[in-house]
Amino acid sequence: MPEGDALHRAALRLQPLVGQRLEVESPNPRAQATQVAPRVDGRVLESVEAVGKNLLLHFEGGLVVRSHLRMTGRWRIEPRGKARRGLPWLVLRGETLEGVLWNGPVLTLETRNLRRLGQDVLGEQFDLDGAVARVRGAGELWLGEALQDQRLVAGIGNMWMSEALWSVRTSPWARVRDVDDGVLRDAVDAARRLMRESLASGRQARRVYRRAGRPCRRCGTIVRSRGQGDGNRTAYWCPGCQAGGEPPGE
Ligand SMILES: [Zn+2]
Repeated sequence: MPEGDALHRAALRLQPLVGQRLEVESPNPRAQATQVAPRVDGRVLESVEAVGKNLLLHFEGGLVVRSHLRMTGRWRIEPRGKARRGLPWLVLRGETLEGVLWNGPVLTLETRNLRRLGQDVLGEQFDLDGAVARVRGAGELWLGEALQDQRLVAGIGNMWMSEALWSVRTSPWARVRDVDDGVLRDAVDAARRLMRESLASGRQARRVYRRAGRPCRRCGTIVRSRGQGDGNRTAYWCPGCQAGGEPPGE
């Protein structure tokens, strides 16, 4: 799944189009059905930003195109007029470059901002105490689930959740209500730090993610994985060195 850092990279790639009046079209029939392209065709792209897992394209006139990439979506920047096979969701055609969205799958037009999202974990201005307070409010959730709840803090997916909790030696199966403030704070801070490092370096150093069945790099216990929460997103953890809780039924 593209996580917040992937969205930030996409936002950076699209920056050359900012300030240009764009031709916008949706070759893909499913994307055409959204009616997004004709509403912004011919408008100036004023800014592009990643907020959590959403890429927001701000056009003149207060129109905002929201692109959520889910598992499959990808933004590319290509030379204008480049021949391509397949039907992209959105093409933003500038003077010399085109931003191309492949495999949507969520494309909406907004005229209001997304205040219902939590703070972007990668934002320059990040109020760690404020974010911790919001996570704290979800006491019944497992910690791994809460860290991925975009209303609490935006941008963390199951990879960085797993990595952050491994780094602070806490189980994703701890209930938020059972975790003290210091641990909550360390967990959110670890996610932010790891994701910012990844954004800066372009590398994603994995200690536990997708290592189920292999020995923990810290203690040698076999790493486990299991779907968690309403979204059944896979959590990876080491039962040997991550304390605080076990999956239900164990
Ligand atoms: Zn371990």
